[in-house]
Formats: sequence, C-alpha cells, structure tokens
Amino acid sequence: MSEIAMAEKAKQEPCLWTEDAPDGGWIGSCGIRWECDYETPKDNGMNFCPKCGRRLEQKGGTDERD
Ligand SMILES: [Zn+2]
Repeated sequence: MSEIAMAEKAKQEPCLWTEDAPDGGWIGSCGIRWECDYETPKDNGMNFCPKCGRRLEQKGGTDERD
C-alpha cells in the first residue's frame, strides 16, 4: 500500500466522540473536549471533528438514527 493510500485510509477513520455526562461535555478520540449545551454534536450539525478534521462519529446521545 502506498503512503498516499495509507493517508487516505487514516482520514476515513472516524473521530469517535463519547458523551462525558453529566455536564454535556463530549470527548473525541483525538483528545478534543467539547461542551455541547444543547443536544448532541450531530444534532448541532457537526459532521466533522473541528480538531482533527475527521468524520465525527458519536457514541451515545440520540444519534441512533443513521
Ligand atoms: Zn477529532
């Protein structure tokens, strides 16, 4: 596998965000911590992690729809 292909694959790995209850904070697998006062990051239209730029995948919250 070429370096470019490996880099592309790495980019496709999602950044997994887990809810850090009870204060509405979320922690991403890249180390980001985000306060979400209202609903979940995805409910707020966040599809990508603002820190690492990867696709945002959230665990918990109300994102069981897709
Ligand atoms: Zn991230």
